[in-house]
Amino acid sequence: MELISKRLSGLSESQTMAMNQKSQDLQAQGVDVVNLSVGEPDFFTPDHVKEAAKEAVDKNFSFYSPGDGYMDLRKAIAAKLQEENRLDFSPRQIIVCNGAKHALANVVMSVVDEGDEVIVPAPYWVTYVELVKLAGGVNVVLPTTLAGNYKVTPAQLEAVITPKTKAFMLCSPSNPTGSVYSGDELKALADVIARHPRIVIIADEIYEHIRFEGSHESIAQFETVKDRTVVINGVSKCFAMTGYRIGYLAAPLPIAKACSKLQSQFTSGPSSIAQRAALKALTVKTGFTEEMKKTFKRRRDLVLKHLAEIPGLKFSIPQGAFYVFPDVSYYFGKSDGETTVKSSADVSLYLLGKAFTATVPGDGFGEPDCIRISYATSDEKLSKAMAAMKAAFAKLK
Ligand code: PMP
Ligand code: GLU
Repeated sequence: MELISKRLSGLSESQTMAMNQKSQDLQAQGVDVVNLSVGEPDFFTPDHVKEAAKEAVDKNFSFYSPGDGYMDLRKAIAAKLQEENRLDFSPRQIIVCNGAKHALANVVMSVVDEGDEVIVPAPYWVTYVELVKLAGGVNVVLPTTLAGNYKVTPAQLEAVITPKTKAFMLCSPSNPTGSVYSGDELKALADVIARHPRIVIIADEIYEHIRFEGSHESIAQFETVKDRTVVINGVSKCFAMTGYRIGYLAAPLPIAKACSKLQSQFTSGPSSIAQRAALKALTVKTGFTEEMKKTFKRRRDLVLKHLAEIPGLKFSIPQGAFYVFPDVSYYFGKSDGETTVKSSADVSLYLLGKAFTATVPGDGFGEPDCIRISYATSDEKLSKAMAAMKAAFAKLK
C-alpha cells in the first residue's frame, strides 16, 4: 500500500529551502559555509515592530484572530495599497495569510481546476509550478531570454493563451532574476490579458520595495484587468520579518471569499502576535526599508563586480530584489581534476564543496543553465564568498 497520496507524488521539495538546510547542516558540523542560497534579508526586524509583538503578548493577543486576519490590519493593508500603489481594494477583499507563499497557495487552489492552464514565465520562483501541479493544473512555462532581460513580451504571452488558460503568474521585481517590468511593459501585458476575460492575473509583488530605480508599478492599476488581478504581498522582505509569517492577498471579492473559505479549513487566521507586529510595520514608517534597499544596491554592485571577473559567466543586471542569476553553462563539461561539472546542480554542489558557498541550482527556477546567488548578506561574507567562487571557477578546465 502506498503511504503517500498520488497528489504529492509529483511534487518537488522547495530547492531554496533544501539548499538553505544543507548549508545550515554543514554550519552545524563546524564547516564555515557562506550561505547565499535562501532569500531573506540579514537585517533584524525593526525595534518598534519587535516592541509591538511583545506588547501583543502582554495584552493577551493569545486568542484566535478572525480567519481572514484582524480587521484593523486588513484596513491598514487597504490603506497601504491605496496610498502606495493607487489600488482600490476594500478590507473585505484582503485576506491575511501565513506568508505570501500561503497567500499564493490559497489563490492557486481557489482558481485553478484540474486541467486548467497557468502561464508561468521562466525563470520563475520555485513554488509557482509546484502549487499549480498540486491544484491539478497544467504549467505552461514561457521561457524568456537574457537578451530580453528575462521579461515576457506581449506577443509571447498572446501566443501561448488557449481556451484553457486560467491564470497568468507575474513576479516583478523578480525572484530569481531581479528583472523589473516598467509601467508601459505592464500595460502592454494587461492589454493582452484584457482580450481574454477568463484569465486571472496573479501578481506577486513581495519585492516591491526592493527596486533600485524608479518606484513600484502594479499591473492591478489598469482598469481593463483590475477586476481579475490578485495582488500578493507581505511583510517578510520589506520589513525583515520572514519568520513572522505574515503575507496577504488582495483579490476580486469572489476570489477573496474562496480563499477565506479555504483558509478557514486549512490554517485559520495567522499568528495573532505576528499580525499585531505586521500592523505596526505597515502603519509606522521609519525609513528602514529605504536604508535596507540602499544596502542591497551596494551589495548588488559588489557581487556584479566580482562576477564580471569570472570568465564565461553571463548575467543580466538585476533592477530589484536581492538575487543575481548567472548563466554558468560555459563550465559544463569542465573539471578541476577531481570533479566534472555537467549541470547547474553540479556547479552548485561544486561551489559548496570547494568554495564553501551555498547557491541554488537553476533547475528549480526553470532555467537549468543558471545558478541563483542571494546577496542578502554582509559585505564581508559576500566578498569572501565571491573570492572563493572566483578561485573555484578558475580551477575548472
Ligand atoms: N514570492 C516570492 C517571489 C518570494 O521570493 C517569496 C520568498 N519566500 C515569497 C513569495 C514568499 O514569501 P513569504 O512566504 O516569506 O511571505
Ligand atoms: N523566497 C525565498 C527564496 O526564494 C525564501 C525561500 C522559500 O520560501 O522558498 O529563497
